[in-house]
Amino acid sequence: MKRIEHIGIAVKNFNTSVPLFEKILNTSCYKFEKVDSEMVNTAFFKVGESKIELLQSMDENGVIAKFIEKRGEGLHHIAFEVDDIYAEMKRLVSEGFTLLNKEPKMGADNKLVFFLHPKETNGVLIELCEEVKK
Ligand code: ZN
Repeated sequence: MKRIEHIGIAVKNFNTSVPLFEKILNTSCYKFEKVDSEMVNTAFFKVGESKIELLQSMDENGVIAKFIEKRGEGLHHIAFEVDDIYAEMKRLVSEGFTLLNKEPKMGADNKLVFFLHPKETNGVLIELCEEVKK
């Protein structure tokens, strides 16, 4: 794995959380993007080599809304960048991990992504991502 690409944080409301993180990180949000497949809005901040991704549910039944209902706002996932997402999927499956999606799917920020089940990863939702070459 190459680096921590981003850390995902679940929030209720961009109107308050985007200015809050701009203040904390002392940088402006540089991108908003909808991910329709996950029913989330995302807001991105650059922090050196990594990013912070705020996640806000587009729908009260979305995964982020459900997460906040159960656990409150806060750390949602850690994303690691890899060179070859298919090879990493194969490796992790052979190590016995359960993938939340069987095939990589298109996530925010022009990335192919998949997730490991948090019950097998000490409760941390882990995303692996690979930049899609254009
Ligand atoms: Zn992510």
